[in-house]
Amino acid sequence: LIQRIRKMSAERTSGVRAAGLIQLGIGDDTAILRFPPTHEVLVTSDFSLEGVHFRRDWHPPGAVGYRCLARGLSDIAAMGGAPVAAFLSLSLPAKLPQRWVDGFLRGLLALAHQYGVTLAGGDTAQSPGASAAKILADIVVLGSAPRGQAIRRSGAKPGDLIYVTGTLGASALELETMYAQPKKKLDPKKPPAHFFSSRHFYPQPRLAVGRFLRQRGLATAMIDVSDGLSTDLDHLCRESGVGAQIFAGLLPRAEGDTLEHALHGGEDYELLFTASAYRKIGRSIAGVPVTHIGEIRRSSTRVILLGELPSDGRRSRKLLPRGWEHFATARRRP
Ligand SMILES: [Mg+2]
Repeated sequence: LIQRIRKMSAERTSGVRAAGLIQLGIGDDTAILRFPPTHEVLVTSDFSLEGVHFRRDWHPPGAVGYRCLARGLSDIAAMGGAPVAAFLSLSLPAKLPQRWVDGFLRGLLALAHQYGVTLAGGDTAQSPGASAAKILADIVVLGSAPRGQAIRRSGAKPGDLIYVTGTLGASALELETMYAQPKKKLDPKKPPAHFFSSRHFYPQPRLAVGRFLRQRGLATAMIDVSDGLSTDLDHLCRESGVGAQIFAGLLPRAEGDTLEHALHGGEDYELLFTASAYRKIGRSIAGVPVTHIGEIRRSSTRVILLGELPSDGRRSRKLLPRGWEHFATARRRP
């Protein structure tokens, strides 16, 4: 399997941008990477577990592989960094068809190629448990950012404005639609026309937006929306020691989507950031829409949600973090 991964990886990601940093990739006891002394190394690790992050009967293998890497790339984007290398550890059931693994790798490597990321190592094992054996994929993504410039969660100040890229809730809406028709299996060979623009199956990590914000020194704090706005904004506020108010009417919802999804739906992989009110933030960055949704406050109540209109300020409520809990634990998603 490792030889196969090595071969597919070499075919699909040859001549990538980061090649100069990868002194040695798959094939030795360790990889060797050389980062310029002017840069810091960013490291993130993410699990993709069958039954928790994906279901084999819903998610085609290519989308599982793609999302596995997309989650790590989104974390690198949230720091304003550039991705360099990925390390993949796979635990697979003995009976898993080879074509599933190939599809998984093709999806993962297509995204790696798009962003010049080298698959530089990993490990494989057989999942225990015979017929109940599950697929587990763990990916470590390494990136880089100029020394001292990575954008942290902790820099938001009272008075800063809060922005979000793209739309919120689209992934949750797609999931809910799938749950509503559990018998209807997606045929991986005949994906619907909208499939590859799907926010759930093929989320686009916002690397160009993150890099732009870092290069211009615009963002005071940033996080990617992986668990849902209510949870991720709470993380950002906690790390910054501040509160926030957001306006329900300003949230960029996917067409036909609910406020609930925009607030609590997860896996949108958009960027949530804060910037000084004195810095101009365009309505779009690197072709991605950017929306002003609220303001950082000096407050002990973490996040306040205001009514449908900014003028409707008196209708406010405390917004508790109850973002995405994934398949295994989410009660409202049987
Ligand atoms: Mg993150």
